[in-house]
Amino acid sequence: MTDAPLKLFNSLTRSLEVFEPVHAGEARVYTCGPTVYNYPHIGNMRAYVFADVLGRTLRWKGYALTHVINITDVGHLTDDADAGEDKMEKMAAEKAQSIWDIAEHYKEAYWADVRALNIRQPAQWTVATDYVPQMIEFAKGIAGKHCYELDSGLYFDVSTVADYGRLARAQTEEGEGRIEAVEGKRNAADFAIWRKTPPGETRQMEWDSPWGRGAPGWHLECSVMSGEVLGFPFDIHTGGIDHREIHHPNEIAQNQAHCCTNGLDDPRNSGARIWMHNNFLVERSGKMSKSSGEFLRLQLLIDRGYHPLAYRLMCLQAHYRSELEFSWEGLGAALTRLKRMVMGVERLQQRLEAEPAGQADMSLYQIDEAISDDLNTARVLVIAESIAGEKKYAGDRLNAIAECDKLLGLNLFGLTRADLRIRPKSATITEAEIDTALARRKEARAAKDFAASDAIRDELAAQGVEVMDGDPLGWEWKLS
Ligand code: AMP
Ligand code: ZN
Repeated sequence: MTDAPLKLFNSLTRSLEVFEPVHAGEARVYTCGPTVYNYPHIGNMRAYVFADVLGRTLRWKGYALTHVINITDVGHLTDDADAGEDKMEKMAAEKAQSIWDIAEHYKEAYWADVRALNIRQPAQWTVATDYVPQMIEFAKGIAGKHCYELDSGLYFDVSTVADYGRLARAQTEEGEGRIEAVEGKRNAADFAIWRKTPPGETRQMEWDSPWGRGAPGWHLECSVMSGEVLGFPFDIHTGGIDHREIHHPNEIAQNQAHCCTNGLDDPRNSGARIWMHNNFLVERSGKMSKSSGEFLRLQLLIDRGYHPLAYRLMCLQAHYRSELEFSWEGLGAALTRLKRMVMGVERLQQRLEAEPAGQADMSLYQIDEAISDDLNTARVLVIAESIAGEKKYAGDRLNAIAECDKLLGLNLFGLTRADLRIRPKSATITEAEIDTALARRKEARAAKDFAASDAIRDELAAQGVEVMDGDPLGWEWKLS
């Protein structure tokens, strides 16, 4: 285990805390996963890049990691607070497809993004519909003391647990943001843990329960899956910052009801010792909301010719608790930075062949200090870049960069410069054709036939290929 104490920001206490595992030598982490009614947008993927860095850090620091990410395929309503329709049912109706097909399609699309962003596979992907019997058992266990039944379902009474809403720092009286209040609720913040299918309606996904045929509430799912797989209390629960307001306070209330009902001065009573939240990726024109129809997908970045790991690097340049603004210029700059880092590794590898075996111990101290400071990936990036320029053996420097990349996950040793060339999907010319044209141009220039050389350059430009003489990154051409 590396030495620096790992400090993480706990949203529940709003302070940095030194990580102390519940089980010695282990780290158990639960991440709220996607609702698979649509493609993820790149903002959603920021949440999983963050969770991945957390997981990599825990492993790097020597903990045996068990990471669980769930797939929500039932129960998430169009409004987080019990109003509106089930997102899955709504999309299935719109597309006239079965919910199961919708879930399968978007789950695969999400996993494709996970792979493209080099997000490590968690120990387990828990799928909500696989846990419905356990959800019913959990609800039965807390129903008597903490819930009441209305025509529309079984509701959790938030006044039955201590410190409700502490995570959100919200006032429960106002019920702010809780539109379309359900009639009969005792407190505005009360929420459904079981939603009955209204009489005369059939849902594609419904199950029998002591409270009638229906479907589980979204908050119940995460309490049950995290508790089942990781055991209460586990170490860290993560999600996007929007979950700090409703979803996670409700999970915490259910966990308290299930475990102890005691207050949150002892964070273990919340089900997880530490609650961590990534801030949002924002975009000026507002194309970051899945419900808005048009939104930015990772595939669009790839189609425009950007390697997906440039987006990963863009995320790592910002602290996970800061808002990050997306722009194409920013993405381009991140791609160039990644290119320079990959070229740095390539150069060191060439030197390696000529040098004696390294002896100096590469100190991990700086890297450890940076990542242990609430996952300061921006600093780890700078360290990786400065290592490349140090006056040490290439072998030692490569080892140190490899350590950084265990945390960053940028595949610095697998990528090549060619992988990072901007290559939009719309481009029709092949690399072989470009190479042939450039070889002809070289000959023309050698023969001082500048008219021919310029003509070839223009021909290439007409096909979207920009010839880049004297580019500092050593590119001969780029597609635009
Ligand atoms: P959903 O599929 O809507 O449940 O969201 C999946 C994850 O993405 C959750 O952890 C959200 O909190 C997170 N999230 C949603 N929008 C953004 C955004 N713009 N930037 C970062 N994370 C987000
Ligand atoms: Zn969740």
